[in-house]
Amino acid sequence: MTLQQLKRDVLRANQEIVRLGLVMDTFGNVSGIARDQGLVAIKPSGVAYDALTPEDMVVTDLDGKIVEGSLKPSSDLATHLILYRAFPRIGGVVHTHSEYATSWAQAMKAVPCYGTTHADYIHGPVPVTEMLRADEVGEEYVRNTGEVIVRCFRNLDPMAVPAVLVAGHAPFCWGKTIEDAVHHAAILEYVARLALHTETLAGPGPGIPQHLLDRHHTRKHGANATYGQATRKDSEA
Ligand SMILES: [Zn+2]
Repeated sequence: MTLQQLKRDVLRANQEIVRLGLVMDTFGNVSGIARDQGLVAIKPSGVAYDALTPEDMVVTDLDGKIVEGSLKPSSDLATHLILYRAFPRIGGVVHTHSEYATSWAQAMKAVPCYGTTHADYIHGPVPVTEMLRADEVGEEYVRNTGEVIVRCFRNLDPMAVPAVLVAGHAPFCWGKTIEDAVHHAAILEYVARLALHTETLAGPGPGIPQHLLDRHHTRKHGANATYGQATRKDSEA
């Protein structure tokens, strides 16, 4: 992927999360990575979305050193970089404060997998991180937000569960590509909304049984995926 393509895709994804209704105010940012070059492109901080051009995207290395761009990168950059370093198969990261997912993050509750809509994309509950400690929200706050996510995934496969709720904050999602990451952010918002309605109707429950969870996840993501067209082999995760 050329840097020009990367910047164009990152801009389009940042506009897409607004179009999808996942962004309140300026609470949202998308980044993408060119793995072969070890370079990340992210939205600049605090610039109106409709005024952005691909050239406004900020390109940094995995240590956050700016390689291209004259604007300041999104203030969440350090979280994105930690995720790219810890999850080597992801190609894009999305952060939003979308209404329903953020409500679960504020309630500090994982989103249980109550149905096949959720299971098709997320293999199990969407976990919630530990709350950051007082000593973690100083200068290194943004980096520690990444660290607390990585700790949460010690025993989880980030390709099977491409989303997390940061306690008291909001979701981060990712995917093999930037487009996948945006799609997962939209799916997360939808299943978070369904889960709230489900609990309103039935109270908190255990979620769907493992066999149904596995059946639905593997139909899209297993080695023998059956969903979609036979030629579409994008389901290794
Ligand atoms: Zn945020």
